[in-house]
Order: sequence, then structure tokens, then C-alpha cells
Amino acid sequence: MMRYHCPSCRAEVYFGNDTCLSCGTELVFEPGRGFLDLRAEGLPACENRARIGCNWVADAQEGAQGGLCLSCRHTTVIPDLSVEGNLQRWAEFEAAKRNLMRMAVLLDLPLTDSAGPRPRFLFKAPDAGEAVVMGHADGDITLNIAEADDEYRAATRAEMGEPYRTLIGHLRHESGHAFWEVLVKPFPDRLAACRALFGDEREDYGQALERHYAHPAPAGWEQAFVSEYATAHPYEDFAESWANLLHILDGLETALCYGLMPAGHELAAPEAPRDILFWLLGIAMEDLVSAWIALSLALNALNDSLGHPSFYPFILTPKVSEKLDWVRQVIRQGCLAE
Ligand SMILES: [Zn+2]
Ligand SMILES: [Zn+2]
Ligand SMILES: [Zn+2]
Repeated sequence: MMRYHCPSCRAEVYFGNDTCLSCGTELVFEPGRGFLDLRAEGLPACENRARIGCNWVADAQEGAQGGLCLSCRHTTVIPDLSVEGNLQRWAEFEAAKRNLMRMAVLLDLPLTDSAGPRPRFLFKAPDAGEAVVMGHADGDITLNIAEADDEYRAATRAEMGEPYRTLIGHLRHESGHAFWEVLVKPFPDRLAACRALFGDEREDYGQALERHYAHPAPAGWEQAFVSEYATAHPYEDFAESWANLLHILDGLETALCYGLMPAGHELAAPEAPRDILFWLLGIAMEDLVSAWIALSLALNALNDSLGHPSFYPFILTPKVSEKLDWVRQVIRQGCLAE
């Protein structure tokens, strides 16, 4: 996350703010430019501003329908808002999604196809006890809004034996599947390289997941996989690697913007904060990994001293770093043919 300031009084404002807490200026966020003065600039705010507190500017892109922002335009299904709590759950997911979309813009990820916005997000609530299966299919990302409830998420995390479960984590993981379809699958060379590194994603998916949930991951899986779930299927390995790369890029961007890098790992970042994320795609992977490890060691200890769970409960072995670096190169090359 970048560090943002009020365009009027320069006080610090947070990514989710719609008003400056120091001077009261009404703010809108524009992914490429940061915070702007809603009234002074005469900008249209996103239609979802009053409803879910979306603080983005309405999307002025050619062909954009209605008054939604770039992020809200990617949502195609919302839950039944007459059910108590659903509005709040959906709003929390959208807040996390705005950070995903912010990164997608700064990393130049493709956000449209011939049919319009892509990926598309379907926010669903469990209905009459029927579960919502989270997942991705052809650009459609389905999310269970019950995950926005702390109790539900904590219980599921314990049940699945996961060290980390967050809304942004779900969004990043599922976006990995969606972008794989656009950035890897259509390019024969990339697809071959992906299969060589992650395995063949044509392996039967249903059987692989059944096996994963029936048996523990093979001993020593940490050497080659960033998470236990990544061992389930090559498709999941890619999505977990993608999600972790986005965690690391966002984490380093934040640390750089706040001057938090540990001594010896300062990294010579560009002066314009909005260039940092993209710049991180091009630095030596060993520098990126060692900076992240140094930062997470410090923050794991800091969290421990305040009794919070581990800041980053994953291990970056050389093989895992190689996978993350491959994802990084895919993002850097984008849709350009090799
Ligand atoms: Zn202000
Ligand atoms: Zn919006
Ligand atoms: Zn997945």
C-alpha cells in the first residue's frame, strides 16, 4: 500500500477514507493518481459510495456503464441485501477488492476482454444451509461473503489447518486463476514453462482435491510449495504462488513508503511512490526475497511481542522463490507475446 495525503491539507489519509479526518475535505480515490478533492475537481463519485462506502471515482473509461468505479464495475453478483449483515459483509469484501484492483492497475494487468470487465466477482451468501463454493471459472470469481465474519473465518482456518486466511488472501488467490487464463494459457511457451515448474494442470482436478483432503501433504512439502494447499494440484500451486507474490509486493511497497526497511535492505526505490510496485517486478529476485525475509522476521517478532498471530507464516525456500519469480516475470511481460 502507498502512503496517501489529503490534496487540501496534506494530512495523511488511509486507503479506505472518504473524508479527510483533519480538514473534512471529501475525498475520492483515482487508482493512477491517488486522492483528489471530490468537490473542487467536480468529479463524479462511484455510485456505491453511500451504499458500501466505496471511495473511488466513477469510471470515465470509454464504454463504462453507469456511475460505478473501476473496481465496482467488476462485480456482477451481490448478495441479498435484505438479509441482515449482508451489506456489511459485501462492503468488507469490496474494500479488500479495491486494493487488489489498485494493484492490478499499477501492475498493468489486463482488466477487460471482448465481453467487458474481467475478472468478474460474484459475492454470494450461503443460502438455506447450502454452502457457497469459492473458486474460479472462465473469468468468474465466486466468493462466500460469510468469510467476512471473523468467527466464521477463524473457525474455517482452524478446521482447514491454515496459518493464514484473509479476504485479501482469497481475492489474490482466485485472481491468480483468472489471470493464469489470460497471461499463461494462450502463450504456448509460457504454458510449457508453467507446466515444467508447477506441474501439468490437466491432471484431474476433482480427484486431486479429494486426495488432498483425504491424506496429509507429503513430508517435506515446504521445500517446494509455499503452502500445504499448493500441493493439492498444479493449478492451486500457481494460484498460491501468485497470491504470495502479490502479498510480498504489497508488503514491500508499504514498508518502502513508510521507511520501514531493515538496515542493509533499504532497496533504492523510485521517488514516485506510484512507480514502486511495478519497479519491484524488475529488481533481482534475491534482493526482493532477502528484503522480504528480513522485514518479515522483524514483523513476526513485533507481532509476537503484542500477542498477534504471525505476520507472514510462510517459508520462501529457493524452489518456492523460483516459482514466485516466474509469476513475477509473467506479470512483467503481461499480455505481450514473447
Ligand atoms: Zn485534509
Ligand atoms: Zn466503487
Ligand atoms: Zn484455487
